[in-house]
Amino acid sequence: MILILTGTPGTGKTTISCLLAEKLGYQLVDVNQLVDEKHLYTGLDPEKDYKIVDMEALEEELHKILEEDHLGADSDEKFGIIIEGHLSHYFPQADLVVVLRTEPSILKGRLQKRGWKETKIHENLEAEALDICTWEAHQIHSTKVHEIETTNLTPEEAVNLILEVIAGKKLFPVGEIDFSGYLGG
Ligand code: ADP
Repeated sequence: MILILTGTPGTGKTTISCLLAEKLGYQLVDVNQLVDEKHLYTGLDPEKDYKIVDMEALEEELHKILEEDHLGADSDEKFGIIIEGHLSHYFPQADLVVVLRTEPSILKGRLQKRGWKETKIHENLEAEALDICTWEAHQIHSTKVHEIETTNLTPEEAVNLILEVIAGKKLFPVGEIDFSGYLGG
């Protein structure tokens, strides 16, 4: 099982993927950490807000990890990996892609706590309101993509919903979450 967990920064990917990996006994790959550790970037954007990630190198590195971990697993049945990060959905190989979503007005508070510049916060809130991660993921992974809104959930509740999606008991198809109201305000 290759599970991709993506979404706008602050939607809970790191928190939820840690809990999920522990529950399932899956390997966890934090894409941001991988980019830093392996220097998979070519520089910073002009505002110095974002690393310019070398997407080809990232994909290559993820393929390498999958190969190594797959070989190292006891059997195919036991092999499971979670790839998390706001760029993780660009990786073309996945059995399931979960996009975490959060109401932009709530997300704003979470991003402000990170001490980010207003422009960076605004860009991310706009991206959340415009469903950017979802549509990017959908273009690559089609019906494998599910969206889970975490605004009024605890991380544990979100984990339980993802477990139900993995078990095929619940579906959260793309297109049911609408944060466009935030853009008018
Ligand atoms: P990301 O990896 O998407 O940037 P993080 O997991 O690093 O997100 O941060 C999410 C923040 O939001 C954490 O401080 C977490 O405690 C908080 N949070 C509040 N509610 C939830 C929820 N339902 N799921 C995940 N995180 C939540």
